Amino acid sequence: MKIVVIGLGHMGGNMALTLHAAGFTVLGTDVAESTRNKIAERGLRVVAPKALPAADVYLLSLPTSAHVREVIESSPGLLQLAPKGSVIVDTSTSDPVVTRELAGKVIDAGLEWLDAPVSGGPAGAASGTLGMLLGGEATTIERVEPMLKAMSARYTHVGAAGSGHVVKLANNYLCAAHLLTTAEAVALAQRAGVSPEACLAGLNSGSGRSAVSEVNFPRWILSDAFDSGFTTGLMRKDLRLARDAAIDQGLSLDLLNKVVEQWHADADGLSDSADFNHITDA
Ligand code: NAD
Repeated sequence: MKIVVIGLGHMGGNMALTLHAAGFTVLGTDVAESTRNKIAERGLRVVAPKALPAADVYLLSLPTSAHVREVIESSPGLLQLAPKGSVIVDTSTSDPVVTRELAGKVIDAGLEWLDAPVSGGPAGAASGTLGMLLGGEATTIERVEPMLKAMSARYTHVGAAGSGHVVKLANNYLCAAHLLTTAEAVALAQRAGVSPEACLAGLNSGSGRSAVSEVNFPRWILSDAFDSGFTTGLMRKDLRLARDAAIDQGLSLDLLNKVVEQWHADADGLSDSADFNHITDA
């Protein structure tokens, strides 16, 4: 299976190297020459974005839906360059409305589509242990299953094209909410004389635990490391998209709206490049 990875940043670079190490024929590209060079130094073949070759799979790891649209629709984009029957897999956290539109165009052009947003950060991408949420046809998943297995410890087919991106936004809404609520819970215990470490040990043996209390607090927050590889700017984007997705479905979700407002207010002083875990001390 020949795979072209488009976007070699925190996630795409590590996914490309993992697939290469697993024995796939992988070629990477990125608009940033310095990023292409960094990945090439680690043994991956890279090409300039305008020189995309024929492949079985085009794996996208891009900042936003606007970038995904550009890669697919620009001239020449994947709609023109990708051979009939090849599969476009969008692992970015994208806008589901745009995803459904682009998936339709991709399928009309004789290609196949999967949205496959990921969880687990750069470390999960580097170790092939990402969680993946899949939107698209079961037959398309079967075609790329060996690739999914090399990248992911667990993938879940959640529905038709766009569904993976909807569930990813729901996931990141909960992650943002857990960061805010766990920080408040730890502050409450601390005021009452309990250390953050003791508080988290207690929470993690109880029903208040989450990935945030089990992973984010010990690994990135209490350790003062703040090097998760997921940025405040990306979480800002994801929360805006979650709210837009609710509006698109005609829903007004009070807690979602409150979390989005609180997050944006607390993150006001944080730069887009700051680690997203800094929200707990903002
Ligand atoms: P990143 O900014 O590190 O990487 C994105 C890369 O895409 C950059 O290197 C950029 O130069 C490149 N790019 C932009 N436009 C391009 C184009 N037209 N053609 C080729 N390359 C282009 O971002 P990231 O942290 O790797 O995240 C990528 C996606 O994965 C985002 O949608 C993000 O929300 C999602 N995500 C990130 C994490 C994480 O922990 N970082 C976790 C889960 C999901």
